Amino acid sequence: MNVNIKQRFQEILGTDRVLETEPMSKHTTFRIGGPADLFVAPENTDEIKKLIAICKEEEVPYFILGNGSNLLVSDKGYRGVIIQLYRSFGQITLKENEIHAQAGALLSGIAAMAREASLTGFEFAGGIPGTLGGAVVMNAGAYGGEMKDVLKEVTVLTPEGEIVTLQAGELQMGYRTSIIKEAGYIVLEAVISLKKGDQDEIKSRMQELAGMRSSKQPLSYPSAGSTFKRPEGYFAGKLIMDSGLRGYQVGGAQVSEKHCGFVINTGNATAKDVTTLMADVQRIVMEKFGVKLEPEVKFLGDF
Ligand code: FAD
Repeated sequence: MNVNIKQRFQEILGTDRVLETEPMSKHTTFRIGGPADLFVAPENTDEIKKLIAICKEEEVPYFILGNGSNLLVSDKGYRGVIIQLYRSFGQITLKENEIHAQAGALLSGIAAMAREASLTGFEFAGGIPGTLGGAVVMNAGAYGGEMKDVLKEVTVLTPEGEIVTLQAGELQMGYRTSIIKEAGYIVLEAVISLKKGDQDEIKSRMQELAGMRSSKQPLSYPSAGSTFKRPEGYFAGKLIMDSGLRGYQVGGAQVSEKHCGFVINTGNATAKDVTTLMADVQRIVMEKFGVKLEPEVKFLGDF
């Protein structure tokens, strides 16, 4: 690792907040991933700006991590800097019918605030285990709702180091996509715009959706949620099930028996197990149904 960059980070964050060879299995919901050279969790925008400026000067790659709930990290880890925007960058404030939150705020926390304030529109997101930043990037959605429906504006750090506020309409949010990654933006904060509603109804909708998740999804195993995107006109899970792949296993990775759309880590899965299993599933579904399954999960590192 570039010694200079570590020292420069420590001058900003102190020695304790710069982690070396940090196992990424600790920071992904898949519980998979080798070591990252350096791992930092900045607490404010100024720190984020400084860390990124250093990465650029030192020509070291960096990756922005939220809660790692849509991510498969290579067994070899990541040769660069992981900048995690999570709990230490997770302030949430209520302003009338709007919730203003930093990128690291968890969707569950935002949903709880909406419920307490009797604001409706965010019930769909309460059970998605990601940060606001990750959800904006992915246009996360569930049960008929998506971020695009409730997002008013997003403040980003541009690749040129400027802080810019963009309206949701400028982000080209589509099915599990937006322009944020492509443009090299880092989400710093966002404003969610909701409507006044009935608190009991909001509570019971959230409970209903939580019940649906726990009855249908393999929540007791590590995973990254839906492994593949929904192909137009089909459901990935059903195609996989109808291909006879329920419970199909490679090493410690398995097509969940409870929900075939999820690949789970049964305990000791490697990233290689997961990618091999995914390739098998893609090939077999293509052979049986002529449908191409595209990964929804993002990959990080060398595979
Ligand atoms: P990460 O996995 O950390 O990152 C995802 C991508 O976003 C990466 O490319 C990363 O670089 C980028 N990113 C993260 N933060 C920022 C930032 N601040 N600025 C710029 N880029 C950033 N998803 C759904 O849409 N609907 C669901 O119903 C759903 N259910 C799930 C259920 C389970 C059990 C699990 C494990 C996952 C589920 N997911 C679901 C997937 C995942 O939770 C979402 O995609 C979530 O939005 C990812 O957020 P994250 O903070 O974990 O992002």
